[in-house]
Amino acid sequence: ATPTALLTGTGRGAQLGILIRGPQVLEDTRTVDTIVLDKTGTITTGIMAVNDVVALPGVSELELIRAAGAVEAASEHPIAQAIADRAARGDRLSEALDFSSAPGGGVRGSVDGVGVTVGRADWLERNGISPSIEQSAAFSAAEDAGTTAVWVALDDTVAGFITLSDTIKDSSSAAIGRLRALGLRPVLLTGDNLAVALQVAASVGIDAGDVHAGVSPEGKVDVVRELQASGATVAMAGDGVNDAAALAQADLGIAMGSGTDVAIEAADLTVMGSSLAQVAQAIELARRTLGTIK
Ligand code: ADP
Ligand code: MG
Repeated sequence: ATPTALLTGTGRGAQLGILIRGPQVLEDTRTVDTIVLDKTGTITTGIMAVNDVVALPGVSELELIRAAGAVEAASEHPIAQAIADRAARGDRLSEALDFSSAPGGGVRGSVDGVGVTVGRADWLERNGISPSIEQSAAFSAAEDAGTTAVWVALDDTVAGFITLSDTIKDSSSAAIGRLRALGLRPVLLTGDNLAVALQVAASVGIDAGDVHAGVSPEGKVDVVRELQASGATVAMAGDGVNDAAALAQADLGIAMGSGTDVAIEAADLTVMGSSLAQVAQAIELARRTLGTIK
């Protein structure tokens, strides 16, 4: 189904770029008491930048970034776009063959006859690749410093890692304050690492105890389900393929219009822009609309 422009009681909804799936959604905006927020692309801009390319001895940084970039060019993930952009600064990238990807995991392909795997440790492990203890220590140190980091393996051997950073949207902090004022407890949910998640949470006013990091797309569904089991009525805002199942599980799934079609398809409500301020506005407006209808 395609979301229709509703909240027609006022016409304001459509005007503000708020699309809802059906009248029941209005009621749901009144009962939700918890809002789960995806990090990348929802609280942050999702426009990531490569910080560091850390290549192991025997591999050049250029070789590493170009191999990773060639595979990431086929992925829509913010991490992928940052790596592909950085890699494409020099010559044209080779084309990756046999591309495969796992949402919340990573990507894999063959570049100029070399097998390239980029992603989280568990994605590498699923492909039979394990970093050594020393390699893992260097990677963890980068993560603990508050950067997002992804492994790169060449021909199924760890060849290094790439660190990236994202920027929090200017509007996120105030919007989360507004959501709190609406009686919603904010919870942060991300596939990224804990150090990054805690930094973002601290700067937008989410309690450290309400941070769930390193969570797989299926794990995101479990977090929503656990909150529901503990008595919460849960809204969730997200933008990625990795958020779709959790958006569907939530009592009120909210997609950012700047996000992927899969997220929009799974959501009850879509805000056309990319700001959490619009999410707060949508809930305020829907509640007010209900007030006028009744
Ligand atoms: P988020 O919840 O922050 O949007 P995702 O669930 O999309 O994060 O991704 C979780 C983690 O999986 C990333 O931090 C990264 O380690 C890995 N990952 C996902 N997609 C890719 C990709 N295209 N390339 C490399 N790593 C990826
Ligand atoms: Mg996201």
